[in-house]
Amino acid sequence: MTVERSNFPFPYNGPKPNTEFLKSAIVYKLIFSIGRSPEEASQRDWLNATLYAVRDLVTEGWIANAKAARDEKARRVYYLSMEFLIGRTLSNALIAENIYDVAKNALSELQVDLEEILEKEVDPGLGNGGLGRLAACFMDSIATLGIQGMGYGIRYEYGMFRQKIEDGHQVEKPDAWLEKGAPWEFIRPSKRFNIRFGGHIYFEGKKCIWKNGEEITALAYDQMIPGYKNNSAATLRLWSAHAGNTFDLSDFNKGDYFGAIEERSTNENVSRVLYPDDSTWAGKELRLRQEYFLVSASLQDIIKRHKRTYNTVDNLADKIAIHLNDTHPALAIPELMYILIDQEGYSWEKAWTMCCSIFSYTCHTLMSEALETWPVEMMAKILPRHLQIIFEINEYFLEYVKDNVTDDVDFIRRVSLIEEGHFRKVRMGWLSVVGSHKVNGVAAIHSDLMVSSTFADFARIYPERFTNVTNGITPRRWIAVANPDLSALFDRYIGKEWRRDLSQIEAFKAHIQDPEVKKAIPEIKRKNKIRLANYVKKTLNIDLDPNALFDVQVKRIHEYKRQILNVLHIVTRYNEMLKNPEKDWTPRVFILAGKAASAYYAAKQTINLINDVANIVNNDERLQGRLKVVFIPNYSVSLAQMIIPAADISEQISLAGTEASGTSNMKFALNGALTLGTLDGANVEILENVGKDNIFIFGNTVEQVEQLRKENYRPFDIYQSDEQLRFVIDQISSGYFSPTDPNRYRDLLDSLRYHDYYQSFADYRSYIEAQYIVDEKYKDQAAWVESALQNIVNMSFFSSDRTIKEYAEKIWKVEPLKH
Ligand SMILES: *Cc1c(COP(=O)(O)O)cnc(C)c1O
Repeated sequence: MTVERSNFPFPYNGPKPNTEFLKSAIVYKLIFSIGRSPEEASQRDWLNATLYAVRDLVTEGWIANAKAARDEKARRVYYLSMEFLIGRTLSNALIAENIYDVAKNALSELQVDLEEILEKEVDPGLGNGGLGRLAACFMDSIATLGIQGMGYGIRYEYGMFRQKIEDGHQVEKPDAWLEKGAPWEFIRPSKRFNIRFGGHIYFEGKKCIWKNGEEITALAYDQMIPGYKNNSAATLRLWSAHAGNTFDLSDFNKGDYFGAIEERSTNENVSRVLYPDDSTWAGKELRLRQEYFLVSASLQDIIKRHKRTYNTVDNLADKIAIHLNDTHPALAIPELMYILIDQEGYSWEKAWTMCCSIFSYTCHTLMSEALETWPVEMMAKILPRHLQIIFEINEYFLEYVKDNVTDDVDFIRRVSLIEEGHFRKVRMGWLSVVGSHKVNGVAAIHSDLMVSSTFADFARIYPERFTNVTNGITPRRWIAVANPDLSALFDRYIGKEWRRDLSQIEAFKAHIQDPEVKKAIPEIKRKNKIRLANYVKKTLNIDLDPNALFDVQVKRIHEYKRQILNVLHIVTRYNEMLKNPEKDWTPRVFILAGKAASAYYAAKQTINLINDVANIVNNDERLQGRLKVVFIPNYSVSLAQMIIPAADISEQISLAGTEASGTSNMKFALNGALTLGTLDGANVEILENVGKDNIFIFGNTVEQVEQLRKENYRPFDIYQSDEQLRFVIDQISSGYFSPTDPNRYRDLLDSLRYHDYYQSFADYRSYIEAQYIVDEKYKDQAAWVESALQNIVNMSFFSSDRTIKEYAEKIWKVEPLKH
């Protein structure tokens, strides 16, 4: 195969490319960027060549968009997040550029199967779960809406660990995602900033001088986030740590070449690895360095860009908004103070006023263990000037409280940015609230609880500051990419624009009584279930029956999410099936997936138990294949894309008041699964949107949960009084599922019987009953399909485009470009 270079229109700047064009573009990239001939190319070579070719199609719109923003001097928003869980790029880009079919044909003429190479793409795991995935959906919506926004994060060399299951245990393996190349990113060798740590501070008159100890370099890598069919793209800039030229010269001079190189590699540790803790907090020094690394590099970049346009920072607050995704980037507040006061020479008051109008903050939790605090001593060592600024902010803030709210000593102690005690700590949640003009929760119930519990004192000080913006998900990835058959059905009835504007799904309501549609919905579900069953067969060698009800819980393994409650039901069902084998049991497949933080013992025990139960249940022939349990290893965005469209039931069973929003609940409902859930997070709003007949709600409410806590909840009483539950617990503790190690679950079971902090026992009975209702409904397939449809057509509120529009209007005050 030869390519006529003279025929190759490069750079490309024309209308939608045809098959011929894309074919030669791919071959061109294969030869000249990868360095392979078509004859010798591997599947990965073809993948990378295609990525390069498609990247070219996005690039010019991206550059044009950036130029237009500069020309219009548009107000911008910067989204700071320690995590961006973006998933694979190629399929998403093909859909954004509306060339999926063109690419499929072009590759097929080259004897390459598009779907096969799509599966070869590395899925970068630069996030833990919901929070990182939310940031990715937001970037997609920012790009599609044409809002002038940019994401800033860290280019971890190792993302989230790869999870392997060995003998039922989770084993963590490093995820060296960069080793296979990252053809979608652009390295920006000129965008580099020095990041300083350590040292000491002193005053010259009133001026504070920070003499830092170490210095490392932050180097930018840009990812394009294509907007949907708008010839535009947003930028996600990820920082990588480099030692740069900062060798320790004294080591060199002493002839200690290797000593100097070693120093380099400890410096580069800052962007080495993502911390795999989701929703819990461990105050590790390297993590503090990572957070400051992100913040300092991003703010230097932002200020430099601003000055290039305006030659001043006087108008900074008019022209930029900075959003903090959780408290992780909260050091941006003292960092901006540091820049404005020490470098730009503004007065303290002026700098503080600017800060408070620039920053906004999203709270993602209610659990106190998830709110970051840093030991004062650690911060003094790593960021002495920033600590000093935080003390000043605290003084100023506490003065304000005393003058305007109350001088009650208890109140003052509670709201102080510094937690007093033997080890003093900086409270990053408090700092984020005090330094922002808006603080939002992520679902209605969460935002209400936020002001009545976690931030109650602050709601008294700043009542106008708190607001809600309910989370959302991008319909591009979560329908168009993940569920092509459902997409095709929509296209047939309502056209293709729902990808840009999900409210158009409303128009599909006119068709849901159409017999063709009623027939198509279960067919699509079945196809997706077969796709998943094939994957499970191939990777785990377990046979799944696509006629069975697929009951799915996929998310991080965490006690508050209560995978254990799911297990208790599975074992209950198993026992009941053995007792009454003749009953017409609805065949069920339970699918679970998710990673446990590597040091989280209870979560790892839960994974072990799921696998032990699966092993017994799947091999018990008395069940005649009517019950299967599968734990799919290494949950990721790409697995989510395959698993979620195959679900009949979406398990959203966290204890009421613990899951801030959840977003997988939205992905499931939009793909026609029925939610089995508690009144928690966004489940509450899903209920409001889909209607009570199309969702299964069970369990205690937030008020009942709190009541139980107050009344001294005694799980042991429930264990004693509920016969089925007692049988299950005794059975697990007898070693029925772990015959070689009967005591394996003693800690787990003791903790349930005697503490049960997340009240699984309290909700057990109501959960079991809800599961029977699910069985009954599934037997009436017509009713089930009707409910699935009611879920699909009533979920448009949960598009992240709606979410981002709310942020843009209520919080950031930014508008799409006019061009
Ligand atoms: C959506 C998503 C999550 C969040 O799931 P929740 O059930 O809302 O906690 C986590 N991980 C991945 C890979 C996701 O796609």
